[in-house]
Amino acid sequence: VESILKIGDLMRNLLLIWMVLCSLCGTRAYAISAEDLATRNGEIAFGQAWLKNTRERLYERVDPFCIDLLETWLIRLKNHFDLGSMPITALCLNGVGFNAFAAPGGIIGVNRGIYLDLDSESQVMAVLAHELAHLSQRHHYRSLRNSERISTGTLATLAGIVAAIATQQGQAAQSLIMGGQAANASSALAYSRDYEREADRLGLAALGRAGYRLESMSEVLKILAAKQSQSSEKLAFLSTHPLGIERQSDLDARLAQFKDYEEGSPVISDPDFQFFRCLQIEGLEPPINGPSNFSCSSIHSMLKHFRTGNFSKALMIFDGLPTQYKNTFSGFDIEIALTLKTGDFKRTESAISTVALFFPSWLQPDIARVDLAIAQSKPILPRAIRERMIQRPERLDLWRALGRFAQAFKQEHFMFEARAWDALLHGKFEAASTQLKRARASWPTTLDQRPLDLLDQAINQSKAL
Ligand SMILES: [Zn+2]
Repeated sequence: VESILKIGDLMRNLLLIWMVLCSLCGTRAYAISAEDLATRNGEIAFGQAWLKNTRERLYERVDPFCIDLLETWLIRLKNHFDLGSMPITALCLNGVGFNAFAAPGGIIGVNRGIYLDLDSESQVMAVLAHELAHLSQRHHYRSLRNSERISTGTLATLAGIVAAIATQQGQAAQSLIMGGQAANASSALAYSRDYEREADRLGLAALGRAGYRLESMSEVLKILAAKQSQSSEKLAFLSTHPLGIERQSDLDARLAQFKDYEEGSPVISDPDFQFFRCLQIEGLEPPINGPSNFSCSSIHSMLKHFRTGNFSKALMIFDGLPTQYKNTFSGFDIEIALTLKTGDFKRTESAISTVALFFPSWLQPDIARVDLAIAQSKPILPRAIRERMIQRPERLDLWRALGRFAQAFKQEHFMFEARAWDALLHGKFEAASTQLKRARASWPTTLDQRPLDLLDQAINQSKAL
């Protein structure tokens, strides 16, 4: 297992070498530069360009429910920061280590590994609040400016630095970037201790205003310190967010000042969070001093039956769960997945409608309706999903759903459309153009042409960056 991990590291490092070298060869003229990070619009453009180039290395978990929930958490917190109209891009990641990151332009990624150690929504919110605080204070830009490289930095160099901050490639990445064009950039690799304290302080205030327990911020720092003391390797999260003794004491001192916030209700109930947590940590090795995983055992055995195709057994275990777990949004998500397989479509319908009623902004119900159409052999693409695609074309899960639909009913025009968006969201503009051409060629004349125009526009806009 170890050698596989090392090969993975090597490949990631090679990609970083490529990124740095490409910044040297200068074959590509970028329309945006480091200076553009100074404005919000420039930052958003940079962030989107960065995401497209980095996406493949992020080990994304394209799970509509996870993305919807993370988005909802982030938007609730975002309103308590000075972030204006900055869009939020929520990324659920398959990484097993304790790590979360913020990249310029409102991009937040969270490893599923963090749920091994965090056992409440408010603790997760503490991590997210800390990340959003880095964004609201423009710590990326200020780090780069402090390193006096801002006028000479190219997008590719910056992208390399941000990738290193985000995915933490450790010393290797640091020396690579320093050996390349980006001398003095090491200070930009990790946030400074001052920025950490600032992020803790602003994160704490936002956490309180959003109605969460302030102590959870301090709890997270203690969890991290305990984890670090058990491990010989440096935690990825702590490499970019240095801990220091002063960070904890500074925070504890501030806790006393913020006593007047009232606790509100969380986005999901505690049983729901526990269910969600079990789903996220499936197959991961629990930490020695982590929260109890007792309640996860039946959920994990249910998932095991589901993965091996024993759907009726999985549904039986689900039906045997305590009602307080079943009647949760995590429960509905699982009920949808299970009943789609067992053919209990009335139950699928009912679970979908319940989620849609409580969270009208979530894409998960509409995506589930696509899978329901597939399960029922109804080759008509639900109208609502088309509207979502127009509103939220950046959501990869929509295009994956269209791909499943196209595959099931052999509708190749949709297959080409789905592949084009997938390629575009991964920064592969040539492939996207090719797939668009194929979609055009196979698009039925009776069908609305606007999806093609939208795609064409999006490809041209991305190319311009
Ligand atoms: Zn930090």
